[in-house]
Amino acid sequence: MTGPAARYRGRFAPSPTGPLHAGSLVAALASWLDARAHGGRWLVRIEDVDTPRCVPGADAVILQQLAACGLVPDEPPAWQSARGALYQSALDRLVAAGRAYACACSRKDIEEALAALGRPRLRGREAPYPGTCRHGLRGRPARAWRLRVSHGCVEWHDRRLGPQRQDVAHEVGDFILRRADGLWAYQLAVVVDDADQGITHVVRGEDLADNTPRQLLLQQALDLAPPAYLHTPLVLAPDGEKLSKQNGAQPLDVRDPLACLNAAAAQLGLPPQHGAVPEALAAWVDSWPFLQSPGD
Ligand code: GLU
Repeated sequence: MTGPAARYRGRFAPSPTGPLHAGSLVAALASWLDARAHGGRWLVRIEDVDTPRCVPGADAVILQQLAACGLVPDEPPAWQSARGALYQSALDRLVAAGRAYACACSRKDIEEALAALGRPRLRGREAPYPGTCRHGLRGRPARAWRLRVSHGCVEWHDRRLGPQRQDVAHEVGDFILRRADGLWAYQLAVVVDDADQGITHVVRGEDLADNTPRQLLLQQALDLAPPAYLHTPLVLAPDGEKLSKQNGAQPLDVRDPLACLNAAAAQLGLPPQHGAVPEALAAWVDSWPFLQSPGD
């Protein structure tokens, strides 16, 4: 095979904070179907950089749940915790290019700076960083590292949601690349890994869509080619929030994998299947609605 389909590389990138639940299987299934429908490869990356949130053994459980549902990666899974040297070298490049800077601010410093600027804290949302350390630390010790974000809208196309835009400087500000506790930020790790693993298509839950403009900015700053993005519908809990462990999502019971897959497929607008798992998956590949023609 030649052309884009031959190069397609997709991934599912769960954080091992617990077993998969009905919501996470939607993203897993969608990313697998998209890869198969394009004749591509499908990888699994365990995103265990936020170590305090990781649950020991959850990675193995997730891989077993995926396998029980017939979703087996084409290459050995990767663990972000083993890839710190790559993140460090990306940060070094950004610092050398003047794109990243050290930040000495604590949460309290940021709140005080925002209050002094008359910018109230928005409920449930972190206020944009006020840029205190953009021009130096003024003798204070470095705690974290941030990307310098310029004003202007980032525009991008989501394969399901259509045209999207965000003024990252206005809505998020200079965002964290390495946290004050020394842990790598999700944004940096995901951008470095997607590029290093040659990922051409990112398929993930819609709750992550508003991270995309930050990731596009980081790709530009690191001179990396952006993948195509498709954000899948979220499974909502009875309280209307995204289904998560916090609002009672149950671990996926893969003793009946077809039932789990049918529930996930329904979220993607795919019809229920009644045969064995491999046949069900093959039928959904055949009717996958998000097929991109070469050059899209
Ligand atoms: N690790 C992230 C999560 O589980 C997903 C990251 C991504 O797909 O970009 O929410």
